Amino acid sequence: MDSFTNSNKKLFNSSHINANEELYEICEICSYTCYAKRFQHYFENWTSGNNDIDKFIQDTQSSIHKFYDIDKTLEWIPYERFYNIKHIEEGRYKFNWVDGNIIDWDNKTQSWKRKGQNMSVELKILSNPINISLEFMDEINKTYGITQNPITNNYMMVLSNKCKECNDICYANRFQLNFKNWTSENNDIDKFIRDTQLSTHADLKKALEWIPYSKLNDIRYITVNRDRANWVDGNIIDWVDETKGWKRGGQNMIVELKKLNDLKNITLEFMDEV
Ligand SMILES: [Zn+2]
Ligand SMILES: [Zn+2]
Repeated sequence: MDSFTNSNKKLFNSSHINANEELYEICEICSYTCYAKRFQHYFENWTSGNNDIDKFIQDTQSSIHKFYDIDKTLEWIPYERFYNIKHIEEGRYKFNWVDGNIIDWDNKTQSWKRKGQNMSVELKILSNPINISLEFMDEINKTYGITQNPITNNYMMVLSNKCKECNDICYANRFQLNFKNWTSENNDIDKFIRDTQLSTHADLKKALEWIPYSKLNDIRYITVNRDRANWVDGNIIDWVDETKGWKRGGQNMIVELKKLNDLKNITLEFMDEV
């Protein structure tokens, strides 16, 4: 450790007012009694009962040094902190969360400051507790923590209804809620369309959708691989809160239909299309 950090440490230690502060160590990374140190102090006080999950939560908490990192906090949340269960769909539930999420450390009370008491959160079953970092990375919603249903023993992610990138409900959230209502009946195509929808956030241009053939009228042959048709609905241009549906433009527009040659490689075919 260099002398600058050392002198900083001394300065910090000597400026302690609150005796409780002495319980917490100075962080080797940021030279401060940071959030990571506060979290580490309580590592002994909770366990998920699963080593991989404990490690994942601990690693996340140990990476929270700066004020603006607090949004990334994950915590172990006992199941009894939730009430008012509603089933949404296969593997997804809505609950109210008594405590709300951590927003800061409170020096006066020597405890976490929280907001959003009794807020509604979504609980989603973790399909593979060994590979949770991947599941968390793939999740577009902001995540608050992990809990376990004591009856089924399922571990569950605790999610906000807001997108973690936009910190708001964005187009990607709207599309995601509608995933259960359509399928192309081909997994690769479903995944491809879903991925484009999840990448929209504030930009609808990236979205593709599954269009039932019945929404196409007056289909005419052009060449072997191409047809022309009228698209009844037109394309998505915005979300309308009042109707909880998409606003569309260009009803009955003329579109061209081009046969997909290789269903496994649709990304390439879409990239090559001018
Ligand atoms: Zn730190
Ligand atoms: Zn977003």
